[in-house]
Amino acid sequence: MSDRIKIDAFTNCGTVKIVQSQSLTDGTNIYTGTLSGEQVSTMRGKTLTPYIAHHYGEPNWQWLDDYKNATAVFRCTDEGCADVQYADARVSYEDKDNIRTSTATCVFNGTTYTASHSTKILWDITITDSSYGTIAADKSTSRAYDRVDLTITPKSGYVLGSWSVTPADETQNVETYYTSFNMPESDVTVSAEFSPVIPAREPYIDESGAYRLGNIEYVEVDGEPFSITEDGTIGEKLDDVTLSYFDFMLRSDDTYQITYYTGPKIDSELVIPKTFNGKPITILGNNDNNRLYESGKTQFSLVLNENITEIRPYTFYVLYVTEVTGDTSGLNKIGNYAFSWANGPGDYKIRRQARLRRNDHSRK
Ligand SMILES: [Zn+2]
Repeated sequence: MSDRIKIDAFTNCGTVKIVQSQSLTDGTNIYTGTLSGEQVSTMRGKTLTPYIAHHYGEPNWQWLDDYKNATAVFRCTDEGCADVQYADARVSYEDKDNIRTSTATCVFNGTTYTASHSTKILWDITITDSSYGTIAADKSTSRAYDRVDLTITPKSGYVLGSWSVTPADETQNVETYYTSFNMPESDVTVSAEFSPVIPAREPYIDESGAYRLGNIEYVEVDGEPFSITEDGTIGEKLDDVTLSYFDFMLRSDDTYQITYYTGPKIDSELVIPKTFNGKPITILGNNDNNRLYESGKTQFSLVLNENITEIRPYTFYVLYVTEVTGDTSGLNKIGNYAFSWANGPGDYKIRRQARLRRNDHSRK
């Protein structure tokens, strides 16, 4: 809407048509509708400005500060007019039977307007039971905006997956923190999901001599594995949960070579499995002249089987192998320093089922 309207054109019959619902003023007179005759002649040559006469209906009420304050908002109902007026209200309230009724009153353009709002004082907190853990709230009812603390305890073998607060009044938002939330102006239901812990399992060698992988402890969520954090919650998504105490390398002849041992400290014997993934394990040690593992202050027996044909150089260098036992009938090659004389204390023995090649520098 322009601030000023200059009337400088008139119809033949000397009338001026003013857009409906608008008025014009020349500073002294207000003109509305279709003007003619005398009115037009008094306007001639004058600069006219729109005469703003707003029309307000019932206000919208804005309740503030938990219904302790309110503002009445009056908007002009004229088409195309954006005028808004605000009137602060006085608020009084009355509590009765868990209901607080707030009444707001304001005076605007000489007219008194009132509004009231009723709300529960204490809202209910309902816990949804789960078979896999418990949820306890520090109160069973709460005023709106008060903090509610939860204690969520998974049963043994489960961890907390997620928890949620659902307000009965879906228009309410609930702010949540670690295990707390701010009570909305609504009854709420609290629920939690728990995920089963898949316990860690050691790798093992089955009765056929096959190496069976173990797994680390993890949680399965929607069929995907996740780690468990130190505080017993679900951590990051895992690519692989399998656990092996041996590093395997598949050889071009479709047999496996054990390149490293990564398991716990060997206390009495190291048993080498016969097969892995259905393929024979034929070679022990790596191709880099590195030891099978690094820490070796314990003495142990090495238990072989008929599939092992070769022990690579330096495999047990300065490791405390006191005896090589099991079925050594397939063993036909022992690399340089595969067993060093420093294996001590004492000698080591090989219980041979087959003749060993004499290119073995390790034996003295
Ligand atoms: Zn208006």
